Amino acid sequence: MSGRLAGKVAVITGAGSGIGRSSALLFTREGATVHVADRDAARAEAVAAEIGAAATAHTVDVTDPAAVEALAEAVFAAGAVDIVMNNAGIGHAGPTAETPLEDWRAIVEVNIMGVVHGVHAFVPRLLAQGRKADIVNTASMAGLVPVAKMAPYVMSKHAIVGLSESLHAELSRQGIRVTALCPGVIDTAIVADSTMRGDMAAAAPKAVAFYRKRGVSPDVVAGDVLHTLTKRHRVITASPRWQVMPAWIVQRISP
Ligand code: NAD
Repeated sequence: MSGRLAGKVAVITGAGSGIGRSSALLFTREGATVHVADRDAARAEAVAAEIGAAATAHTVDVTDPAAVEALAEAVFAAGAVDIVMNNAGIGHAGPTAETPLEDWRAIVEVNIMGVVHGVHAFVPRLLAQGRKADIVNTASMAGLVPVAKMAPYVMSKHAIVGLSESLHAELSRQGIRVTALCPGVIDTAIVADSTMRGDMAAAAPKAVAFYRKRGVSPDVVAGDVLHTLTKRHRVITASPRWQVMPAWIVQRISP
């Protein structure tokens, strides 16, 4: 198989939809085989079926450390792993005064602990196999800048940028590059699936429409990931189109 990822093996969580799905499709077009993991079994199986022989579906909820451990065990039992993309995530927006603790906890459990479980399960195994590998953790531009009325989500994505940078500082000498992926607003199921409270419920579809018109898509982000994986030097991958984000989407960016 030829391609820029020929012979590589990738594991992607949240691969049943959006950025994860596009990445799975692109990686396999570039010669990789992919483990498609999602908590939604039907989504994971649909993506694996779309890809064919180069994909295996796994039903995994990343908030469950035992399930992520079992995923790691299963994929390493099948052979070496080159790319781990901790990508599963959920969205949230709304005024802080209207945000119950259960929302904060849900964001921490999926967006932070979900990635931590991936790190905990995969890093020792990646080190033990003794070859170069990449970990890509899906953060967000919300991991680089503050956004009003998105405190839980922004907090979680800043954590992922900090985690990824720290891991890279520690692991890169041992051949494991760690990258925080930081896309802007992408038209995926996450917006419809997200908890939107207060006036953010009306703002979210507008933001998506704004970006859709400008050609930002999960496929563009998957291309950014491929670019990072195939470059010698790691970059924090950010969508340049964030620069055109209008004030009514980011209601206030702190100085
Ligand atoms: P999406 O909703 O299309 O895909 C997310 C997938 O993750 C879904 O298939 C969902 O079933 C799965 N998932 C959710 N919780 C899970 C869990 N606990 N365990 C396993 N799977 C789970 O959304 P997307 O936009 O492709 O999101 C992918 C990642 O990109 C997320 O981390 C998200 O925060 C991040 N991101 C999205 C945007 C955007 O605007 N869409 C922007 C920046 C970053």
